[in-house]
Amino acid sequence: MHAPSSHKSPDKTQAQDRKRGPDHIAPDCAGQNFYAVDRGLRDLLRLYLEPDDFQRLEPHFNRLGDLAGGRLDELARVADKHPPVLNARDRLGRDEDWIDYHSSYREMEAIAFGDFQFHAMSHRAGTLGMDRPLPAVAKYALQYLFVQAEFGLMCPISVTDTSIHLIRKFASAELKEYLLPKMLSGDLATMWKGTQFMTERAGGSDVGAIETVARCEDGVWRLSGDKWFCSHADADVALLLARPEGAPAGTSGLALFALPRRLKDGRRNAYRIVRLKDKLGTRSMASGEILLEGAVAYLVGDAGRGLKQMMEQVNLSRLSHGVRAAAMMRRCVNEAMVCARSRVAFGKAIIQYPLLRRQLLKIAVPSEQSLSMFLFTASTMDRANAGSKEAESLLRILTPLLKFRACRDNIPVATGAMEVRGGNGYIEEWVHARLIRDAHVGVLWEGTSNINALDVVTRAIGKSRAQRTLREALARRIDEATPIPSAFRDRLRLRLERTLAFAERVAAEPALEASARQVASALYHVSSAILMMSESARPGADARRALYARLVLEHRMGTQDPLDPITCDWERDAEKILFSETPVAITDVAGLLS
Ligand SMILES: Cc1cc2nc3c(=O)[nH]c(=O)nc-3n(C[C@H](O)[C@H](O)[C@H](O)COP(=O)(O)OP(=O)(O)OC[C@H]3O[C@@H](n4cnc5c(N)ncnc54)[C@H](O)[C@@H]3O)c2cc1C
Repeated sequence: MHAPSSHKSPDKTQAQDRKRGPDHIAPDCAGQNFYAVDRGLRDLLRLYLEPDDFQRLEPHFNRLGDLAGGRLDELARVADKHPPVLNARDRLGRDEDWIDYHSSYREMEAIAFGDFQFHAMSHRAGTLGMDRPLPAVAKYALQYLFVQAEFGLMCPISVTDTSIHLIRKFASAELKEYLLPKMLSGDLATMWKGTQFMTERAGGSDVGAIETVARCEDGVWRLSGDKWFCSHADADVALLLARPEGAPAGTSGLALFALPRRLKDGRRNAYRIVRLKDKLGTRSMASGEILLEGAVAYLVGDAGRGLKQMMEQVNLSRLSHGVRAAAMMRRCVNEAMVCARSRVAFGKAIIQYPLLRRQLLKIAVPSEQSLSMFLFTASTMDRANAGSKEAESLLRILTPLLKFRACRDNIPVATGAMEVRGGNGYIEEWVHARLIRDAHVGVLWEGTSNINALDVVTRAIGKSRAQRTLREALARRIDEATPIPSAFRDRLRLRLERTLAFAERVAAEPALEASARQVASALYHVSSAILMMSESARPGADARRALYARLVLEHRMGTQDPLDPITCDWERDAEKILFSETPVAITDVAGLLS
């Protein structure tokens, strides 16, 4: 299972320990190629990418998979232990605030922004040797591989990508000309990275409470206010919301601005990073508080549509957060499997114990669900970008569903993987502590769980009626998956209809708002089960995904009497197939699909 790494580990002691004590201390995933070991990802990329794109991009998936299990992983471990430091003034007493990063973080930046150019790959040709921008499926698959090693830096990477999207879509020709060449550059020394500041003390969820004021003097906009959560605090350009003087209260009075760190004459713009947050996770990346003291900013797009425009960035970030959660869960699966196969207790490898195997399934099922859901969402985005209205509507509901459920699942999955490793999992020199700390921010930023669940129910369903396109897309997949036993397809069809009826009822009755999370979870589970079933029905596909589909129905949508013993023969047979690592045909699993 371990592919050799092309990078030498600086941590010789750890490498020697792994050689010396495999009978006692179970190894971790260091040295694996995270692409090569990920059968599900490799199979699904062939399904969700055009064959030409897959062929051209596979060497890059492979190279990043190797880096993620090797050098990137080592750098991420070091960067997590050496968080950024804010310097408020220089030695001459000037308010030239700057942030010092450890060399490990800088090296990761070079890989992300210089080598792979994640920030630009969706926007221009020329990254990774492509003659056009990369499809969303490829970009998010690369994010998925990167985040299996490093989570913190994905925030600056993604928010630069999404800032470029907003500037390209909404900025004036003049502003585009000023910002885009710098933001799309692949030269780390001169490029401008982006970020997004919305949250203020008065509210993160309640965006309409924003107090930052924009004043226009002689045609120049100046911002005054206090931004309370500013990730990638020292970005070269921040997109933010502020209220122009005289604009109405609430969200309709908010305008979108681009705030450069430096003015055109090179001077520092009039805002200060007051302090950095001491965070539970994402410790490699700098999140700060920013005081705007009449800072010069450029209006982006229509002043009356600031939040609407900003929501495009938020939705892109939400998709990326779902991908990041999927990535961290995959890392958890990889770690748990390596450990379970090699750790011996009571004379046997622990994977042989029924309770432990069930624990492994509880880690693997949410991880597989999120893989299918993010690839399907990304391919829907590709179709929407190509002009499909149906895909646009589908994307509207898939995005908050993925953000909501995958980020929530990430937390118990990270804890579960730690538990599989036993006491070592609790020790900071193993990856689990970092995975657990990083997992938690997913339920907070870019909308908490409640805000995303409400987005599904009140907006995606209540206003946009996007559940109709979801129904059509999923029902079609059930109809087309003819190699799958019809009894199982009927069961999925019934579950889909019941879930949608429940979702529509909750969306129609404000008194049922407290069920919004229940709706979002059920929609996510049934959608992911149908996708996995349909993926397994393709000619030559690995049919193990159909078993995961059934596990979703039983574990995540079923009811279990707490006083009934778990005596599922089918599940024992399914486990054997799932843990064997050998791909199977649909005929091998048909008897287990009912
Ligand atoms: C590490 C980190 C980095 C961040 N970086 C950024 C950044 O770069 N830019 C940025 O703009 N923001 C950033 N944020 C802020 C983040 O987006 C907000 O914290 C988040 O949106 C929640 O807002 P809040 O903290 O004001 O909590 P509140 O909005 O006060 O929420 C408190 C609780 O109330 C619940 N709640 C609120 N409204 C409702 C409702 N209608 N129904 C039910 N429940 C509700 C929420 O779900 C939550 O549980 C960051 C946060 C963290 C932790």
